[in-house]
Amino acid sequence: MPDMSMQNELLSLSNHELTDLVRRLGHPAYRGRQVADAIFRQRRDSLAGVSNLPLALKSQIAHEGLSVGLPRIEQQFRSADGTVRYLMALADGQSVETVWMPEGDFGEAGDGSEAGQEELEQLDSTCKPKRTDKKMPGLKGSSASPTQVRSIARSRATVCVSSQVGCAVNCQFCLTALLGVKRNLTAGEIVGQVLGVLRDHAVNLERERMNIVFMGMGEPFLNYDNFIKAVRLLVEEVGFPESRMTVSTSGIVPRIFDFGQEPIRPKLAISLNAPNDTIREPLMPITRKWNIEALLDAARQFPLRPRELLTFEYVLLDGVNDAREHALEAARRVRGIRCKVNLIAFNPGPGVNYTMPFQDRVLEFQTVLADAGIPTFIRRPRGRDIYAACGQLKRTVS
Ligand code: SAH
Ligand code: SF4
Repeated sequence: MPDMSMQNELLSLSNHELTDLVRRLGHPAYRGRQVADAIFRQRRDSLAGVSNLPLALKSQIAHEGLSVGLPRIEQQFRSADGTVRYLMALADGQSVETVWMPEGDFGEAGDGSEAGQEELEQLDSTCKPKRTDKKMPGLKGSSASPTQVRSIARSRATVCVSSQVGCAVNCQFCLTALLGVKRNLTAGEIVGQVLGVLRDHAVNLERERMNIVFMGMGEPFLNYDNFIKAVRLLVEEVGFPESRMTVSTSGIVPRIFDFGQEPIRPKLAISLNAPNDTIREPLMPITRKWNIEALLDAARQFPLRPRELLTFEYVLLDGVNDAREHALEAARRVRGIRCKVNLIAFNPGPGVNYTMPFQDRVLEFQTVLADAGIPTFIRRPRGRDIYAACGQLKRTVS
């Protein structure tokens, strides 16, 4: 796909590249570090107010056509559960969505990381959220009232970022797919979403622990270079630990191999979503290119770190892939892989013709996998009321 993005934002440049830039403009190297500090640590949206930089340098940078490139928050929608969905405006008039979940959604639970451990502590021994009523709101067969808004536990907050404007993968259950793909995001636009949200919530990264999931709009592994550069910038310039980041792919097999070789990388989640090709292909046409066996082969060869678990995501669609035999078959398929499974109950939306699974089917599915020895968690739907949950990001504004 042609890269229509402009790459003229400072947020796409590392400290090293910023240093090269200021030197080329005739300034001492330490000015590069000052620019990096202003944009990545102080989260400035413009260099104008940065008093320790010389005016000459600021106007030379502007003259080069470079600006900070922090996306502008065009609109925000707040859910009853505290989730905020942001519509972020990009320099060329396109927009993407970024989501802030104050308490996470149990996506990292039990994945071997510190973030996963913190989420585990919020779950009871059956891997279900600790709560007074055990019903899962929003699922068929549940009479529970909507999740109560609790005090904001910021140490577990998660930012969900987009990697492309739209998505080309065309999964039939996903609202983002309806947009098609408009373009890739630059590294700076990916980093900028995180900084924009951290800025809006005045997060102090030295005191507060946060997670990032690359699970918003788009397929990160179809924008691999910009995605991985964004990861490096977040780790090296923003100061975000890689162990607190997770990327999800629909199964772009060659990139899974590349990703395994990266010296700095988030944890890996793979959207499995079906136990066999017959069910998966109509749901995820990408299966024709890389079938489940090719995908699981890449998963088997993936070089996990000590204690790390690979995550398989599985969207449960009523009457399609949520039967007991599907759970048994899925358990057989992933046997031998050091993994956990995250079950996601289908989040509905206009233009997508599936329905939410029944609560007892979701629980049975979890039990079958757990009985096969696979740690299995149910992702909490976050921000469904404002179209912020998994698969619902399609720039809805009303
Ligand atoms: N493109 C990547 C990451 C973004 S989607 C991927 O597909 O993996 C993040 C997760 O949301 C994926 O596991 C996807 O299968 C799931 N998802 C998509 N649409 C959904 C929907 N309508 N309801 C629930 N989950 C959905
Ligand atoms: Fe793209 Fe992921 Fe949606 Fe599939 S589920 S269309 S890969 S964003």
